[in-house]
Amino acid sequence: MHPNFPGSGSRGASLAARPCCLLLIVALLAAWPGLSTARDSATPSPPAVVTVQQVLDGLTLRDGWKFRAGDERLWADPAFDDSGWQQVRLPHRWYPGPDAGPEAGFGWYRLRISLALADGAQREQLGHLGLQLGTVLSAYELYAGGERVGGVGVLPPAAKPAIDYGRQRILDIPVSAISADGELVLALRVWGGSETLTTRWGAGPYRGDVRLGRFENLLIARVIAEMPGLLIGFIYLVFGAYHLYLYSRNRHLEGFLWFGLTALAIGIYSLVLNGWRYYLGWEFLTFKKIEFGVVYVVPALALQTVWSLLDAPVGRCLRLYQFTFVAMALVCVLIPGLDIHVLTLGPWQVWTLPALGLTSWLIVRKARDGHDEARTIFIGGTIFIVACLHDILSDQFRLGATRMIPWGFLAFLLSMAVSLGNRFTAMINRLEEEVTERTAELSEANRQLSEAARIDPLTGLYNRRGFTEAGEAEIQRVFRSGRSFCVVLADIDHFKSINDRHGHACGDHVLARVAAKLRDSVRDVDRVARWGGEEFILLLPETDGDGAAVLAEKLRVLVEENMFQCEGGRLQVTMTFGVSAFRKGESLDSCIDRADRALYQGKDEGRNRVMVGSYRGLTLIT
Ligand code: GH3
Ligand code: MG
Ligand code: MG
Repeated sequence: MHPNFPGSGSRGASLAARPCCLLLIVALLAAWPGLSTARDSATPSPPAVVTVQQVLDGLTLRDGWKFRAGDERLWADPAFDDSGWQQVRLPHRWYPGPDAGPEAGFGWYRLRISLALADGAQREQLGHLGLQLGTVLSAYELYAGGERVGGVGVLPPAAKPAIDYGRQRILDIPVSAISADGELVLALRVWGGSETLTTRWGAGPYRGDVRLGRFENLLIARVIAEMPGLLIGFIYLVFGAYHLYLYSRNRHLEGFLWFGLTALAIGIYSLVLNGWRYYLGWEFLTFKKIEFGVVYVVPALALQTVWSLLDAPVGRCLRLYQFTFVAMALVCVLIPGLDIHVLTLGPWQVWTLPALGLTSWLIVRKARDGHDEARTIFIGGTIFIVACLHDILSDQFRLGATRMIPWGFLAFLLSMAVSLGNRFTAMINRLEEEVTERTAELSEANRQLSEAARIDPLTGLYNRRGFTEAGEAEIQRVFRSGRSFCVVLADIDHFKSINDRHGHACGDHVLARVAAKLRDSVRDVDRVARWGGEEFILLLPETDGDGAAVLAEKLRVLVEENMFQCEGGRLQVTMTFGVSAFRKGESLDSCIDRADRALYQGKDEGRNRVMVGSYRGLTLIT
């Protein structure tokens, strides 16, 4: 006998052996009264006479069933007297032990329904009837009016008996099964299936109601009932894939990788729990392998997701703990048969409890520390954890309650969606800030670049471009104010020979010194620029030709009198100046050209002098 055999005698011991689970279930039941009332222990009573209308509206057949363990074909017969059988209420299970004799694992449920039929026409009104059965452990066939109307799985003594407790079926109930006086006798022959499964989980109607009604109504209700599960399964798959896609685009979002995988796992789990799965035509065991393989790794994935989202490092112990879930999933998938699932499910569920505790602890701790993600996933995570607890406890104590994990995950998913939104908003804000910062840096760099493009590196003066811009701006100003300006071109005399005699470095030094002298000797409003080579140009706003000539002469004397220091010794430098006054209507080029001609005239006439160029001709100043 298996130590965990949950028969009627060992049930209390099984509860006492798990005090921790007991505490949790008490808390859960207190918080969830619907769960406890669903399992009430009221004495079953046989149904009263039912009307045709009641059947057509749909009738839940919970009470009035008779049960007997064993197997006898005669028990399908409507005329059989079952008054001595045990009265039970559905869902109901029993635990057929291995010592139960040749009919071990079989049990029969019978229900006698008395229909108030006024006449034959009313009987015809019933039309196409159906009987909806919930989950029945582990295979069954149904008899109505003594005739077999269908079942789930294959029962012995067939060559290959097979169980399929996952399938919930609607079976045809022919009107002929109802006797002339309105009596319908239903007989459910149940086979417990594999010994491990029945000793652990029992046999018989386990989950869901038995309903009698119009076939099409039952079918529609079933389709509607299965739709949300199907939808939610696909939504999880889509969300899972979307999060994996987000991760593939941004490898920093590691939490999204694990959340994506968790969502995929829960999506697959939701789909293999759904009634539509039978359209795939796969075997019962294949679905079970997928279901267990997937659900066994969920704790490891969920842990990894929460740890990643909350930026908590996964320690060696936690990694090992996660690995046990992966190992359990592999064992379950690789070892053939169903027994491995039955044997590992209980331990796996108990083993999952620390994961739930740890996750709650981390979320609460991080939320208290003010971690943004923890606050967002707090509610969703808590609901998901409660759903996991619900399913674990429901299985641990064979409550047969509907699976809540797929629904609880919805809350987690929604909180992830909120978290995703928050992340993107924060990311966009950060990006916007960065863009503003970078734009400011760029425009500053641009400003410096264009400034640099106007400056001559050797002398630090404006270059030809800088001067031209200043000149054009000055022309605009002349148009507004009417006060003209002058241009002075200045060229160092025999500079080539300075280079030749004293070296290029000395030449550079002289250029820089001359530039500094010119710049320091003019007003702030005046512009001094290097026109090219050893040639300089001056722009003198609001200055007439005479004033410019005076300034040029002053500069000439200044340079001439200055001794320039070079490595080879001291040297004297002279310059020739060409002056021209800007005339309204002419271009800057023509003004400069006049100064240039004056300058070359000065060169021709012996250098070291100032020449003023005008329309009338050239005037020598010195
Ligand atoms: P002129 O009196 O007729 O102006 O004679 P010049 O020798 O000054 O004139 P020329 O145009 O024959 O020679 C100018 C020299 O200036 C030639 C060139 O090597 C030199 N030069 C131009 N730019 C630079 C520079 O940046 N550094 C140095 N060291 N020399 C330069
Ligand atoms: Mg020269
Ligand atoms: Mg020159």
